[in-house]
Parts: sequence; C-alpha cells; structure tokens
Amino acid sequence: SDHNLVYPKSPDHMDWSSYFPAFVANADPATETSLANEANLPSRKLTKEVEVVDIGCGFGGLLVALAPALPDTLLLGMEIRTSVAEYVQHRITALRTQNPDTDLYKNIGCLRANTMKFLPNFFRKGQLTKAFICFPDPHFKHRKHKARIVSTTLNSEYAYVLRPGGIVYTITDVEDLHNWMVRHLEAHPSFERIPEEAQEADPCVEIMKTETEESKKVERNKGQKFVALFRRLEDPPW
Ligand code: SAM
Repeated sequence: SDHNLVYPKSPDHMDWSSYFPAFVANADPATETSLANEANLPSRKLTKEVEVVDIGCGFGGLLVALAPALPDTLLLGMEIRTSVAEYVQHRITALRTQNPDTDLYKNIGCLRANTMKFLPNFFRKGQLTKAFICFPDPHFKHRKHKARIVSTTLNSEYAYVLRPGGIVYTITDVEDLHNWMVRHLEAHPSFERIPEEAQEADPCVEIMKTETEESKKVERNKGQKFVALFRRLEDPPW
C-alpha cells in the first residue's frame, strides 16, 4: 500500500544521485552551504535531468533496450511493486558491472513509486520529453476503471510533466483498453494523436513493440499489439 511510499516534497527535494551516480555534478561549494541544508535540499545535483519515464516499468526490458538507443538521455522506470522495482535496480547494477569500460546503462534508473499519485512531486512542469505506458494493467471490470493509468485526471498530470512536443507512447494487447486510452487522450486539450503512418518512423516504437517483458509474452501467444502515440501541444496563449 501507499503509506510506506517515499516521495519528495517537490522536484527540488528529490535526490537523484544514487540512481544516476555517473551524472552527479562536481560538488560546488556554494551549493553545499548551509543554505541548501537548511531548506533540506539535496546537495548532490545531477548534470542533467531525467527526461524519459516508463510508467509501470515492470521488469525493465524497455529501459534496458532504450539505454543504448538514447545514450545522452536519463531514463527512469517507475514501478509500484517493491520486489519488482528492486529487481530492476539490481538488473541495472549488474549490467553496469558487466560493461565496465563503457557508459552503457549509466543513464537508466528505477524508482519504486505509485505514478497515479506523486508524479508532480518528482518532475517539474515540462521536464519530460517522453512517457511510455506499456501494457498497463487492463482493469477489465467497469468499477475498476478508475484504477486505469490513463484517465482524464492523470492525463492532466502527464500534460503537466511533459513539455510541448513531448510524446506519450501507449501500447496494449487489450483492444478495449486501447480504445479507452485513445478516447481519453484525444479528448484532452493538451494532446493530439500522432497519425499511425508517422508513428512507425519513431525508432522507440519498434523497441516498445518488442523489448518489454509483456510485449514478448504477447508475441509468444501470437496476440495483437495496439499502439498509439500522442503529442503534447503548446499551451494556448492567455
Ligand atoms: N510495462 C511493463 C511491460 O510492458 O512489460 C509491465 C507491464 S505490467 C502488465 C504493468 C505494471 O505496472 C506492473 O508491473 C504493475 O506493478 C505496474 N503498476 C501498476 N500500477 C502502477 C502504479 N500506479 N504506479 C506504478 N506502477 C504501477
């Protein structure tokens, strides 16, 4: 349950240094002063910010596959199940150890979090360029629909953390859920669907279709995969 979830008071309060140790900025004496300490802000800052999130990352297949494809970008998996999040953290540590003379896998991390609750605590407005929602739990029953990871309320949070031009990637094997995600994201004023002809040109789409653990399972069972991408629009002028 949520009461033992740890989350920062604000994005400025989040200490990312243990997730991305290769990107910790050289300590600047000015920021290590008592000022930062008094405000309870982390003194170890990163040289760049997380820009890509995998919402409900499961066992981390997407992160591991995207790491070499987006080498200059920090990617974060977010997963609610403690044991699964820990598994992904160990997987990343092992991959880094197995690739000692490269920068491979230094740009990915995994955090245990409930993405339905605390996204704006972790990311500033407009911080993210991509958010992946891969094979989310379908919650078939009508009374369970409020547990779906795409909804009018949550789409406003995705809109908040994504910058204009940023992309929400969705994939599922459940056609009803696909239609639900398309309907809710198309109805949101901050998003427009990217035409299906254009989505295949994005190399992340092929990775998302083949590299997540769930996509491999669907492949083995010869199931269908429904993909939809949505672009974060500019906010209208005041
Ligand atoms: N994306 C992965 C894949 O494609 O292989 C995992 C898909 S799995 C069906 C859905 C995952 O979302 C599970 O690992 C589940 O624990 C996680 N999840 C469900 N609700 C969540 C929430 N509110 N916050 C974070 N993760 C969540």
